[in-house]
Amino acid sequence: MNRVLILGGTAEAAALAEALSDRSDLEVITSLAGRTRSPERLPGEMRIGGFGGVEGLVSYLKEYSIDALIDATHPFAAQMNNQAVLAADQAGVPRLRLVRSPWKKQPGDRWIEAVDAAEAARLLPGLGSRIFLTTGQKDLGAFADLDGLWFLIRTIEPIGDRLPRDRFHLSARGPFKEEEEAGLMQEHRIDVLVTKASGGDATYAKISAARKLALPVVMIQCPPPPPGPIAHRTDAALTWLSHVTG
Ligand code: NAP
Repeated sequence: MNRVLILGGTAEAAALAEALSDRSDLEVITSLAGRTRSPERLPGEMRIGGFGGVEGLVSYLKEYSIDALIDATHPFAAQMNNQAVLAADQAGVPRLRLVRSPWKKQPGDRWIEAVDAAEAARLLPGLGSRIFLTTGQKDLGAFADLDGLWFLIRTIEPIGDRLPRDRFHLSARGPFKEEEEAGLMQEHRIDVLVTKASGGDATYAKISAARKLALPVVMIQCPPPPPGPIAHRTDAALTWLSHVTG
């Protein structure tokens, strides 16, 4: 019996756990950071909460005799990616990065690249006045002091009642449809979309909707992927897993 640890918190991790659910030769554990209050129940075992840095993950890999580690965290979870690289090396456990494919710019896209949320915030006053902000809860602070701009903020989790004036919040989880995204942007008279370059299908509808409406998109660039093997699809991850578990 081989034991696989999936670092999760993404649709890709959930799809992989699902694809492995009928494998009687594998024990699958999915690990979540604990950011969402009611995480989706996944097949196999689940554990929730940080490991305690590289050292903590090394101990976990050894204690639970993990045979393969699949880092399927979000493309922007750079700290966890780096810790997974170091811990897997130290524990001698084969590791794969499973990450969604990046978005490719299409004709008609009006993307303005920003290196981080702070640069995105600096760019906004020159681009528009009614902003659709979809960067996630972690980066909201970078946009807190932009007076004179109106924001529609969408996050998965509620963000409480600490919103300043001119901020309107929606709590929703993808996947979204292009017509719904275009309708939302028109309803709120959005003139700029701000997003992370997260890639994948589940949240691409806002990108194609912005293209259709000819809106500029401030695109926060993705951190570089960790070294080592990378899969963009579940079937490629399954092939890697068969290879390392014999
Ligand atoms: P991060 O900055 O790379 O990681 C911060 C810390 O969170 C890590 O050092 C680790 O704590 C813990 N952690 C992260 N992922 C974990 C996992 N799957 N299992 C156990 N501990 C984990 O990560 P983040 O950007 O805050 O993202 C946290 C989680 O949310 C990830 O699982 C990611 O897949 C998901 N997520 C992130 C984004 C995003 O935009 N960043 C979007 C959607 C979902 P220890 O050092 O204590 O081990």
